[in-house]
Amino acid sequence: MDPVEVAAVPDAGPGHAWQNKCPWGTPNTTSISCSLADVMSEQLAKELQLEEENAAFPEVVAVAEGPFITGENTDTSSDLMLAQMLQMEFDREYDAQLRREEKKINGDSKVSISFENYRKVHPYDSDSSEDEVDWQDTRHDPYRADKPTTTPRKGFIGKGKDITTKHDEVVCGRKNTARMENFAPEFQVGDGIGMDLKLSNQVFNALKQHAYSEERRSARLHEKKEHSTAEKAVDPKTRLLLYKMVNAGMLETITGCISTGKESVVFHAYGGNATEEKVIPPECAIKVFKTTLNEFKNRDKYIKDDYRFKDRFSKLNPRKIIRMWAEKEMHNLTRMQTAGIPCPQVVILKKHILVMSFIGQDQVPAPKLKDVTLSSEDMKKAYYQILHMMQQLYKECNLIHADLSEYNMLWHDGKVWLIDVSQSVEPTHPHGLEFLFRDCRNVSQFFQKGGVAEAVNERELFNAVSGLNITADNEADFQAQIEALEKINEDHVQNHGKKLSMFSSDGDPPLDDE
Ligand code: ADP
Ligand code: MN
Repeated sequence: MDPVEVAAVPDAGPGHAWQNKCPWGTPNTTSISCSLADVMSEQLAKELQLEEENAAFPEVVAVAEGPFITGENTDTSSDLMLAQMLQMEFDREYDAQLRREEKKINGDSKVSISFENYRKVHPYDSDSSEDEVDWQDTRHDPYRADKPTTTPRKGFIGKGKDITTKHDEVVCGRKNTARMENFAPEFQVGDGIGMDLKLSNQVFNALKQHAYSEERRSARLHEKKEHSTAEKAVDPKTRLLLYKMVNAGMLETITGCISTGKESVVFHAYGGNATEEKVIPPECAIKVFKTTLNEFKNRDKYIKDDYRFKDRFSKLNPRKIIRMWAEKEMHNLTRMQTAGIPCPQVVILKKHILVMSFIGQDQVPAPKLKDVTLSSEDMKKAYYQILHMMQQLYKECNLIHADLSEYNMLWHDGKVWLIDVSQSVEPTHPHGLEFLFRDCRNVSQFFQKGGVAEAVNERELFNAVSGLNITADNEADFQAQIEALEKINEDHVQNHGKKLSMFSSDGDPPLDDE
């Protein structure tokens, strides 16, 4: 069928409701019973009728509006739907043929040529904001018509009664048809000129806009894909997972990499559409836990070929271990969120990819505490806030950060946000208290160096956070006592089970842990 007719669809429905849904979605059932032949003859009849009418009443011009009537005339909406469906069918066939040709050309060759860009049917992209362009926008007109010069500069032809101005419907219609040639080459306009088709300005503008937005939609999709393939930091499987998130509309665009660490890569993304269960934050951080660089990989060669380790090795599948870290970070963040500690909010966990809310704005991540210069007042405020957060973390979340320092605290919105909690452990961890002591030392030193007079030393901070009362007045003794406590606890746990750990605060709700 003639693609021209269908291309006029964009201006169809009032309110453009179709733009938010797949226009090929649920057709009016009454229209399906209509066969192609019926449609064709109906249209033919209409055309013939129009021709007659035109001949009889030349001043009532409706030439170009025939098959394009929109709005009030509800009768045509089913034709429109049918036309859309037929066009979709046509496009699909075209794409299928394209794929066959692509396959034929490429064969088994490792290097292949992609016809992707020539496809007609693009996966529907929920990002339709760009499609809703102001139709009156004429600042940039890539379809400037300079080809058809049916009317000279003066703006009219002829004399007296036979004068034809540039606004003449028929002339204008022909001119519009000719201008379709300026559309992007992949936009099939059909043989409108040969048929002496006359397009009204309204229809032409609709077509033009459609051609333009189709072109950009295709380009945008392509760009998205290019962008992800350009991301060499992630392996193809990760890339696929990320692409799926974008495709599902959960993320709108992954804009770029914020940080590349030893164990993770963090990306920034704009959040996509909210679903019924989930509100996606406008900006997200995607933490991809690296699946290649983990210590178990290095052990591969020692145990992989040893049959005795076969079973155990499969249990220590590096992918699974990495996922476990991601999962741990998710659980820990959730606990912190529940306690009201400022931290990223978990959006979703997909295998080794954790999507969370972005701390920062307009793609700019909040600075780490080590990179920001705070006024002495803010510095003091930050110190007390961190002291409180550490206590909450210990008492309410039953967690020790275990990598707390000015590197893992962000300054945003006038307060400190905690991040990077995949390694956080419960106080019952065999080395939990040592980790806590290290955290305290980092915090203490940072604020003492930062000029906060109120900042207590690491030993006092440790006692303040844990509620323990270790009295040693020098670091070595203090550490020795910590280790002794860990040892007692370990034995205690061995004998009575984890639930009876000495450090777990009483009355805590059972927290799900990995
Ligand atoms: P790593 O284990 O690599 O240190 P982090 O979780 O600390 O992983 O993330 C690395 C960096 O990425 C952080 O220092 C921070 O700058 C940035 N980052 C991580 N999560 C977020 C987030 N939710 N919002 C903004 N920036 C983040
Ligand atoms: Mn970190």
